[in-house]
Amino acid sequence: MYAARGSGFKAPQVQLISAAMNVSSVRRFGIVGAGQMGRGIAQVAAAAGFDVILADVALAFAEDGKNKIASALGKQVDKGKMKPEERTALLDRIEVRQGISEFSRVDVAVEAVTEHLETKVKIFKEVDAALPKDAILSSNTSSISITRLAAATSRPEQVIGMHFMNPVPLMKLVEIVRGIQTSNQTFDTVRDLSLKLGKTVIVSKDRPGFIVNRMLIPFLNEACFALEEGLGTPEDLDAGARLGLNHPMGPLELADLIGLDTLLFIAEVLHRELGDDKYRPAPLLRNLVAAGWFGKKTARGFYVYDAQGNRTGRAF
Ligand code: NAD
Repeated sequence: MYAARGSGFKAPQVQLISAAMNVSSVRRFGIVGAGQMGRGIAQVAAAAGFDVILADVALAFAEDGKNKIASALGKQVDKGKMKPEERTALLDRIEVRQGISEFSRVDVAVEAVTEHLETKVKIFKEVDAALPKDAILSSNTSSISITRLAAATSRPEQVIGMHFMNPVPLMKLVEIVRGIQTSNQTFDTVRDLSLKLGKTVIVSKDRPGFIVNRMLIPFLNEACFALEEGLGTPEDLDAGARLGLNHPMGPLELADLIGLDTLLFIAEVLHRELGDDKYRPAPLLRNLVAAGWFGKKTARGFYVYDAQGNRTGRAF
């Protein structure tokens, strides 16, 4: 684990040739996907003084991401935790774009689009073509092989997993995932960058779900099976984890926060790639996703939410 000081990191002996930049040369992040993760990453990068291009398929989605950052920061100002001029300066560092045509100005790209292999491979190819030669291309994927994404690019040694946690501004961890091709220089830069963003770093091998989701997803999926079996109500299952295990959130409320579509994608990757039926997604989870009930982001999942994201009741 690497915290902000005195990491004591020793580089492994094997070193691939890499032209990746040093952390001191990084000026601008390019973030693809302005959903809940992309906008959170944009916020912490801008808060650390970096310029940011926040891109999505439609300009309106990128603008919506920036508006949500603006409103989250507005609450910080109201509470006296941030000065109004700091908020303005932070927001001024974030430019919004449709697509990635401006990524020739980017030093470190972070891909944060839907957890879907084909979508990510396509975007990796496009971003690879748009970036300068020495830029680093990272993915915030929860489960997909970094090695496979790297292989789709012309810079596999400059590709790495940079897995932030949700909500990004509040959660301390970044899980760094090295593909088999990732160079030591790329790793060093991304580790130092993560520390500059105020995060603590853990390093995972490139295996489905990495460290955090290898542990979390079976837990959340099991809660779906348990609910389907009628073991308890959603509120009882969540209270069981909160009060009995001292978790800050119960599994169903956390699943609603993560997004049930994302949770199902990750569960499918674990099941397919690890080839063990213990990872099979719960039928209830599949049904909720089929219904378009993705959790908080669609105002309905296991629970129902109002326009401000406050929980108002049970969904079924
Ligand atoms: P989300 O659904 O909130 O946002 C995804 C965004 O990607 C959307 O705004 C969508 O318009 C955009 N997008 C889709 N295709 C695109 C394209 N071709 N070009 C540009 N933008 C495109 O999803 P999210 O929760 O932010 O998850 C994003 C990634 O982060 C996924 O890989 C997910 O596994 C990972 N992740 C999610 C969480 C979580 O708790 N939700 C935590 C850690 C990592």
